[in-house]
Amino acid sequence: MRSVPQRLLCFIFLLSLSCKESSLPLKRLPENDINRVQAILQELDPLIKQKEQDKTMATLSFEEVYVRLDAKDREFLHQFQDLDPVKAGIKTQWHGIADGNVDLVQLDDQTITKSGKAEKLSPQFVSRKAFESYSRMMRAMKKDLGKSLLVESGYRSSAYQLYLFILYLKNHDYSILETAKWNALPGYSEHGDPNHQALDFMNEEGINGEDHPDDFAVLPEYKWLTEHAPKFGFFLSYPKNSEEGIAYEPWHWHYEENQDVKKQEAEK
Ligand SMILES: [Zn+2]
Repeated sequence: MRSVPQRLLCFIFLLSLSCKESSLPLKRLPENDINRVQAILQELDPLIKQKEQDKTMATLSFEEVYVRLDAKDREFLHQFQDLDPVKAGIKTQWHGIADGNVDLVQLDDQTITKSGKAEKLSPQFVSRKAFESYSRMMRAMKKDLGKSLLVESGYRSSAYQLYLFILYLKNHDYSILETAKWNALPGYSEHGDPNHQALDFMNEEGINGEDHPDDFAVLPEYKWLTEHAPKFGFFLSYPKNSEEGIAYEPWHWHYEENQDVKKQEAEK
């Protein structure tokens, strides 16, 4: 039998193999990596088009992505998952890898009215627990304000999050540091955590956070949320002047089941 120190050394060696740190340059990817990103996006294009047509982008899996790529491209994409969160400037918490295999409710009948014209939103997915509470919350809002909020973005799998990240690199001059300020890396988004399900809200006239952050923050619907949402287990994730220095996102709320259960029990 091996001695304890020997076994410890062996364990540390194995750990160092499994914790291989990404070697991707954070400030700007070199030309060959940029070319690789573009080639991967092109390779994935038919899959993405198919998923969009099937309206199942939100549950895209790593298997679906990786099966279409060669070993070098797979290794390259893996490095985005192995980035050191501190060095990459990630301020959000680790939420775990979202593989899409959770109990989700599909919302495919959401309609907004923009300048008198009805417009259907693309289907969204929400974890069942969060959906039930969201529905109760909207019934209460409708009673108070005669208005409700729609889900512009709900559940997003980690593979979808990774796809979005490499897609948006071009908008930030292929800087991982800059892209990470606006797009979560796989595992770091509340949108992929069914127990902490994030919902991005949009009002019935189409005012959302993505395009109209200031307009969203002055809506009566937003004011109502700040007063009533915690009763339904929903909380504002990134308030103004957050301790972590994360930008204010008045439209992004997350669900906490234990808080909701407590409230429901207290009401009984
Ligand atoms: Zn969000």
